[in-house]
Amino acid sequence: MKKYLFALLALTWIHVSAQDTQDEVQDTAWKKMYRESPPRINDLVHTKLDVKFDYDKAYMYGKAWITLKPHFYSTDSLALDAKGMDIKKLGIVKGTSTNNLKYEYDGMILQIKLDKTYKGGEQYTIYIDYTAKPNEYTGKGSAAITDAKGLYFINPKGEEKNKPTQIWTQGETEATSVWCPTIDKPNQKTTQELSMTVPHKYVTLSNGKLTTQKKNADGTRTDTWKMELPHTPYLFFMGVGDFAVIKDSYKGKEVNYYVEKEYGPVARKIFGNTPEMMTFFSKVLGVEYPWVKYSQMTARDYVSGAMENTTATLHQESAQQDARELIDGNAWESTIAHELFHQWFGNLVTSESWSNLTLNESFANYSETLWDEYKYGKDGGDAQNYNDMQGYIQSQSDKKDLVRYFYNDKEAMFDAVSYNKGGRILHMLRNYVGDSAFYKALNLYLTTNRFKSAEAHQLRLAFEEITGKDLNWFWNQWYFGGGHPKLTIDYVYDDNAKHVQVIVKQTQPGDKVFRLPIALDVYNGSNKKRHQVWIQNKIDTFSFIYSSRPDLINVDADKILLAEKKDNKSLENFIHQYKYASTYLDRREAIDAAARKQDDPKALELMKVALKDKYHGLRNFTITRLDIKNENVKKEVEPILAALAVNDGKSTVRANAIGLLANYNNSEYKSIFIKGVNDSSYTVAGNSLEALLKLDSAQAFQEAKKLSTKVAKGKLLESITQVMIKSGDESGFDIIAGAFEKMPVSQAKFNLVQPFSEFLTSVQNTKNFKAGVDMIVDFRTAVEQYGIAPVVTNFLNGIVTKKEASKTMASDKTALQEQIDYVKSKLGEEKKAF
Ligand SMILES: [Zn+2]
Repeated sequence: MKKYLFALLALTWIHVSAQDTQDEVQDTAWKKMYRESPPRINDLVHTKLDVKFDYDKAYMYGKAWITLKPHFYSTDSLALDAKGMDIKKLGIVKGTSTNNLKYEYDGMILQIKLDKTYKGGEQYTIYIDYTAKPNEYTGKGSAAITDAKGLYFINPKGEEKNKPTQIWTQGETEATSVWCPTIDKPNQKTTQELSMTVPHKYVTLSNGKLTTQKKNADGTRTDTWKMELPHTPYLFFMGVGDFAVIKDSYKGKEVNYYVEKEYGPVARKIFGNTPEMMTFFSKVLGVEYPWVKYSQMTARDYVSGAMENTTATLHQESAQQDARELIDGNAWESTIAHELFHQWFGNLVTSESWSNLTLNESFANYSETLWDEYKYGKDGGDAQNYNDMQGYIQSQSDKKDLVRYFYNDKEAMFDAVSYNKGGRILHMLRNYVGDSAFYKALNLYLTTNRFKSAEAHQLRLAFEEITGKDLNWFWNQWYFGGGHPKLTIDYVYDDNAKHVQVIVKQTQPGDKVFRLPIALDVYNGSNKKRHQVWIQNKIDTFSFIYSSRPDLINVDADKILLAEKKDNKSLENFIHQYKYASTYLDRREAIDAAARKQDDPKALELMKVALKDKYHGLRNFTITRLDIKNENVKKEVEPILAALAVNDGKSTVRANAIGLLANYNNSEYKSIFIKGVNDSSYTVAGNSLEALLKLDSAQAFQEAKKLSTKVAKGKLLESITQVMIKSGDESGFDIIAGAFEKMPVSQAKFNLVQPFSEFLTSVQNTKNFKAGVDMIVDFRTAVEQYGIAPVVTNFLNGIVTKKEASKTMASDKTALQEQIDYVKSKLGEEKKAF
């Protein structure tokens, strides 16, 4: 699974949710509650389902035949998870008939008394006729998955315009049992056969292979999907809707992309790297893609980022990008890699409990780095690795272990520790054992545990088997312990003694001392001598003698450490590092150091060189760090920025350069901006329009009007709306409101709420005004789950304040009062919820 989209919002407005939670009563009983792996009394063997959907009621009518066997000990009873169902019939299958069984049901668990005592391994089949009522079941959700209905009917009666009718499921963590009676635990595996009866106009997707499609007399069709290899209940999937199905392939296996029809022509641009990813991952792991096919579907109103259902990954609608959005890079490619890698790590071998979630999510997270490194080079991989590390550090999760047997809510396992930190731990492990041993160990782990579940020790044993090294220290430090090192690094040169000391201090709070095997490179000019050393004390001192003073000593020379560093190098050291040490992070650190000293000509020189760095991510980073309030910097970098704005091969660099050039108020650039407004990249076009606004607002307004008649998304849509709002011209209401309404729930839309609210304060037409307020209220409802609704309410409050203030001047006081009352009525609705 992958969380997505609102990481940024949540970070920016974290104080809102912090305030929220302060009021909650702190229940800490969970700290003493050991989360054992679910006991295996009965094991699932096979699950056969026959389902029909009632779109009017949002019900699913199901018949289930569930084959099980006692795990080891004999038993005469069975507990099945079945959440919020109506049970019509429950029995045991005996030949062609079914004998009723006694059971108790509390709306969560079916406690079934079997017809006799079954021995370990002795199979039996339970039949259940039931109705699933997902909308009436009130499961508890989390930040990762916003609720836990399991089965979702989207616009089932077709009442919402511009929204397709869809059905999809979300099983993880334990929500499959809302629509399928099962043992809803990650250490269970079952083969599966699923028949879905749907209106003939829709396509279906489920796990495994589509084996039959049968037309029924009533205009419906029954599709049967078979999953012949066992997998875990949380990976069960059903998807139904009006999709374009774009067919691709990998070694003769079907690879399909299910997208809304509008995105059919661009689906290969979004998902088309999938077969190459399958090739790459199969090759490095030495384990061929394990399943019969691989399909990916997009969903409306999806409750997470994406989910790796076996052979049938589901993505949220943001995956659907148009051709112009893709020019800036495929924002969804990492997620595509992430979910695909789960087909091995999570689906083939599954964490036996949520405590061991690292075995799923750390790998999926790390696959994003592996893919970027393979596809876009070492800089690309290192950039991904670094960004994910920052995500963990900013999450301030020092106290959490990677493997956690004590947690309040299993959903809380889906955090920056299981994902980001775990991914970086794998990166360090790979560096320590070497690439060849790393992949051989993963191969051993996957082949030993395939179609089974595993815990973190099984990963350790595989690494120990391959490398011949005892790795308890690594697992104890990183898997079963929390925190990360904070390092202060000092250099003491003694030119008389020709001797240098490198002093590394571990400054993290507490007694924990990390053992960190690292490389340390000593540079003279371009010559470097590598030393393999261990940081393993609170203070370690490494001494070297030299004949001429080193230009640089580069600690953690491979730049693999998961750590926060205060590296007290001189500017000259950093300049040398940029030039000769050469990894992404070496260069980034040097740019960062130079950016802090832009008054220094040598630092500025480095920034100028870095504006032409070979990696676009560092060109962008440098642009964002330029201090153009500094007149000298502003003058010195101007020609480089002007060239980047026109010539850079990456649209994001051109866009950033244009964004900065806008601050020069130089009419020479007007032609660049006017040309940029029509660039194929929405980001370039949007930044150009805003740059033009600064030089010539009338022309910007004209361009915005022209652009508003065509398709615009992302930054361009945001900029058009900004320009129209700035013009303050009420006649632009339809364009502005239309653009606002069209935008998907996103950070960009959030950015527009404030200017849109300000615009509404000047709107006189009451009908338009109310329509605008409704749009903001709808947006507030959509973001309630992210804890930022109060921020939106504040903007609505602002409208009231400004309208109140204009009362004395108003020509139509009745209309104004009606507007004020309308906003006020909308404030109350949310206050109750808050
Ligand atoms: Zn995941």
